[in-house]
Amino acid sequence: MQERVLEGEQARAANDDLPLSRPGRRQGRGANARPAFDRKVIALVYDFDGTLSPRPMQEYTFLPKIGEDPKAFWAESNRLAREQAADPLITYMHLMYKKAKAKGVRIDREDLVALGRGVDLFPGVTEWFEAIGEYVKIRSETNGVTLRHYLISSGLTEIIEGTAIYRHFHNVFASEYWFDPYDLPYPKRVITDTGKTQYLFRINKGIEDLRDNINQHMPERDRPIPFANMIYFGDGDTDVPSMAVMRKNGGHAIAVYPPGKPKAKCIELFKANRIDFYAAADYRRGSDLFRRTCLLIDRILADIRVQEEVWRIEREVVRGR
Ligand SMILES: [Mg+2]
Repeated sequence: MQERVLEGEQARAANDDLPLSRPGRRQGRGANARPAFDRKVIALVYDFDGTLSPRPMQEYTFLPKIGEDPKAFWAESNRLAREQAADPLITYMHLMYKKAKAKGVRIDREDLVALGRGVDLFPGVTEWFEAIGEYVKIRSETNGVTLRHYLISSGLTEIIEGTAIYRHFHNVFASEYWFDPYDLPYPKRVITDTGKTQYLFRINKGIEDLRDNINQHMPERDRPIPFANMIYFGDGDTDVPSMAVMRKNGGHAIAVYPPGKPKAKCIELFKANRIDFYAAADYRRGSDLFRRTCLLIDRILADIRVQEEVWRIEREVVRGR
């Protein structure tokens, strides 16, 4: 009896063309495509500097190349920004090239990408993407769960492109230079702390093409990646706006600290309820970070299954059965 009911349900699902009242819009595979619950993408979103990499990415290669001491450079950049009440990110992007020019060093886009190869990553980062992917595959009893990795960074797109992990990201939102039209490369896009939140909404709403407007209203149920399916990874104050957006919208956040170093910032974030967990930035399988991320993934997967079941029941209700 049970089996026959299932067969009947499957047959109905296969032929059904009723309008849907909730998530799970028709997949774009022709009029006879089988409707499916399609909010099954999990997004892991990372900050870069201090989160995946121990130090700001410019310190590994760009600053040494132009003979600048990183400490002195950031001190000067921050002092200038304060004096001029300028945006600190625009200030650093400008100052890097001003100094390169003064030293007679020309660095174009390709050079920046090449510099990315010298960026250091926390232990296990290189293997993390595949290891977490395997975990999701094993644990997702629901077919069709997809895992995506995103990067949102105030650092430089070009340098990130040169790193070994670039290929794992579904999309990278980072600051970027405009090389051609100016004598000195000019900031094309600057991603500030609060600006980062725009990209969380782009991921949430599926509007990842930066030419498309993000501010138009989109009902919650039409957003392809609910915040509840997202985990944000950050390391400190610059991530507070993103963590706040995540948590206020039902999403998740994890803070990391350098292994073996003080974790006061993480404790502060935890106490302020900005994060679910914190852990040392050790991305190797079996680490606290790995385990705690898997816990959140388990919760997300369970949530997806519950919602998919609700979606099925709603379709039955619409059909009046
Ligand atoms: Mg950071």
